[in-house]
Amino acid sequence: MAGPRSSFLALVAQRCPRCHQGPLFTHSAFNISKFDEMYDDCPVCGLHYEPEPGFYWGAMYISFAFSTGIMLMVGVLLYYFAGDPATWVYVTTVAALTVLFAPLSLRYSRTVMLYLFGGIHYNPHYVGDTQLHDTTKT
Ligand SMILES: [Zn+2]
Repeated sequence: MAGPRSSFLALVAQRCPRCHQGPLFTHSAFNISKFDEMYDDCPVCGLHYEPEPGFYWGAMYISFAFSTGIMLMVGVLLYYFAGDPATWVYVTTVAALTVLFAPLSLRYSRTVMLYLFGGIHYNPHYVGDTQLHDTTKT
């Protein structure tokens, strides 16, 4: 099975930036206790997912940008579609949605960090053993 050729689609699918096939995370985003667990290496091409120690600290800033985006969108939507409700409605709604989207925010911030600052480029010829022996591929 080939991964998407587009880096953007591979990012959205949270796949390895080098082969676009191997998953970055071990569990689903809906697994509340393990949504943040990543593979150490790509299961397909063997790329090490942590280019340097502490690499994902920078993802905090990206996550902060996602949270700010959620706050702004929710604020604008509430203002226009709920008729500028009381302040507690803004605060409660923003807090609830920020917590609700925390798993996705964490996962995508790490993925964006790896794609933008990992220094890794897509290489369609970088296939692992699984693809070399896949006879169903046309
Ligand atoms: Zn890979």
